Amino acid sequence: MQILDGKITSQAIKDIIKGKVAALSAQGKRTPHLAAILVGNNGASETYVASKVKTCAEIGFESTLKRFPETINEAELLQVIDELNNDDAVDGILVQLPLPKHISEDKVIEAINPDKDVDGFHPVTTGRMVAGLPSFIPATPYGILLMLEHYKIETKGLHAVVIGRSNIVGKPMSILLSRNTYPGNCTVTTCHSATKNLKEMCLQADIIVAALGRPEFVKADMVKDGAIVIDVGITRVADATKKSGFAIKGDVAFNEVAPKCSYITPVPGGVGLMTIAGLMMNTYNAYMMRSK
Ligand code: NAD
Repeated sequence: MQILDGKITSQAIKDIIKGKVAALSAQGKRTPHLAAILVGNNGASETYVASKVKTCAEIGFESTLKRFPETINEAELLQVIDELNNDDAVDGILVQLPLPKHISEDKVIEAINPDKDVDGFHPVTTGRMVAGLPSFIPATPYGILLMLEHYKIETKGLHAVVIGRSNIVGKPMSILLSRNTYPGNCTVTTCHSATKNLKEMCLQADIIVAALGRPEFVKADMVKDGAIVIDVGITRVADATKKSGFAIKGDVAFNEVAPKCSYITPVPGGVGLMTIAGLMMNTYNAYMMRSK
């Protein structure tokens, strides 16, 4: 069994981008610029945005963090996005989800200029991705592809079972793994909350991508020997022994599943770090596309 290490892999990706950014600076060019919007004070969202901003600084990107109180209304937020869309110095725009209930996430996502859609959630981006056209790729599935590529894992012809069908993880993951490309070329089964025989499905899987948000849901008796297991889940579970008061749990019961796998991602230290790497790649690609 080999651990797919998000720390090592994301660092390798960040180093590649850092080198490209240094080359831009050496030529006197401006560097890629990511603008992040954070609404309210959700603890997890604060952490995610802070690490995205920190990573920008590490690799030489410019970043702008726009913070707004929970009370901002939809029209005001749409106005902010419009300004960022029209700001030539901004290459990528990300709106940290979830947004407060009184704001339509769909409307906000659709307001982002698809050329700056570095989270890859805009319907135009999704359409391009499904059609196999050049496009941004939602950051988490992108990070997973980068991880498979980094470890040179052969995926052609494998049966991948993706658990979850959300627009940000499960659905794009299923589409990407089925594409005639590397990593991909898998036969894909998408499972979700209405799937009746989930255990039987998982037992047929060469690759399991668990993205359902249920801590330690995937147990050893659901995994066949030699499977590749990618754990996307991140759930905060109360834990009095931690200073923060919570522990982070994945969707896979790691201790019992790991011995059966050929490869497995840990939580934390796996897909989460790769998601940021995916976002940085998208931002770099947005910059390059806009600089043409
Ligand atoms: P979501 O709640 O939008 O979707 C969950 C999906 O799981 C749904 O499609 C649902 O049908 C399916 N599901 C729920 N219960 C199920 C069950 N019992 N059996 C089979 N399928 C079931 O969640 P999401 O936004 O896709 O996120 C999933 C998990 O991944 C969460 O823990 C989230 O925190 C985590 N996440 C991690 C990263 C990362 O960077 N590692 C990024 C995004 C999301």
